[in-house]
Amino acid sequence: MAPSLYIHIPFCEKKCLYCDFYSLASQEKLAADYVRVLIKQIRRIDAPVSSIYIGGGTPSVLGINLLGQLLKSLKKIITPGIEFTIEVNPESFSKKSAELFLENGVNRLSIGLQSFDDQKLRKLGRIHDCRKAQEAVDLAQKSGFKNISIDLIFGVWDEKFPDWKNELQKAVSLPVKHISVYSLTYEKSTPLSKMLKNGLIKPLEDEAVAGMYEYAVDFLEGRGFKRYEVSNFARDGYICRHNCGYWQNESYAGIGPSAVSYLDGVRKKNIPDVKEYIARIKKGSSVIKSQEKLSVVQKAKETAALKIRTKEGISLEWFKEKTGFDFLRLEKSSITGLREKELIDYEKKDGKIKRVSLTKKGFLFCDIVSSELL
Ligand code: SF4
Repeated sequence: MAPSLYIHIPFCEKKCLYCDFYSLASQEKLAADYVRVLIKQIRRIDAPVSSIYIGGGTPSVLGINLLGQLLKSLKKIITPGIEFTIEVNPESFSKKSAELFLENGVNRLSIGLQSFDDQKLRKLGRIHDCRKAQEAVDLAQKSGFKNISIDLIFGVWDEKFPDWKNELQKAVSLPVKHISVYSLTYEKSTPLSKMLKNGLIKPLEDEAVAGMYEYAVDFLEGRGFKRYEVSNFARDGYICRHNCGYWQNESYAGIGPSAVSYLDGVRKKNIPDVKEYIARIKKGSSVIKSQEKLSVVQKAKETAALKIRTKEGISLEWFKEKTGFDFLRLEKSSITGLREKELIDYEKKDGKIKRVSLTKKGFLFCDIVSSELL
């Protein structure tokens, strides 16, 4: 299978309090220089890609002119039926940008909506409000986007269960086909983790967060959004093919500062510095910060750790074909403990184990399961 392509846009209007992705406040000249080097890199792509994802940061802060240049440069690698996603934020998404995206082959829009609660949005340091979020979805639909995804965050300190229920209700009333729900995490070196350290906020109890997640699963599944990965729900036919590639440990190329590539079993991480990135591409020197060649066992274990996150789990036949390893033998030491803790379970046919997948409890502790399998 051809690798997928990820393009990182490392600019945002303002940094959100919880975010640890590499991005900085957008500056016009820097953004223009950056798009020029991206185009230079895209011109060098001479093989087909299986999907394209422009993420960030906030791609929509680039503005029409720069986005137009970037999208035009990608036209040569768009093949019929390819999934092409772009992330936008409500405050920087416009009718003009929607038209530009559609004209240039973008067929999936991921809106960084995060919440339908103005107070919660302010707490998280987001700069849009609920009205703007709703307008962005309406605009996307009216412009002709059929495949619209939104993100929601839950488990914010002080968050009340009834408010979360209302947000989910609002989400399913919108013309969206895909919903991602993430619990708030307090990542190191974010303003939020400092607030936590200084005792300014107190996180919700784990049980409350787990309850919110389980409610979301039941509610969304009951409204036709099937969970296909721990945090991702889609109506039939609308799963994100690009992200499914990651969970199947397929190869991908990442362009941009901090982007990661995984090609021919080698993982490479780009430097997380946009100015340095531009300078190096201009000079023709490497932008790789670190790289690691994975052994066949590492590759197989990573495949297990990623694929277990999906609803379908790991079919033993698929795993053998993909990695050459017998899953039960490879993961023997972890499987027993994970089953004893009721985090994973077997699916059997004619008395034989065919598949291993997360249990209801396993979905809550998916990160533990993945790290055990690694
Ligand atoms: S808009 Fe997205 S990428 Fe930018 S700071 Fe906020 S969460 Fe991070």
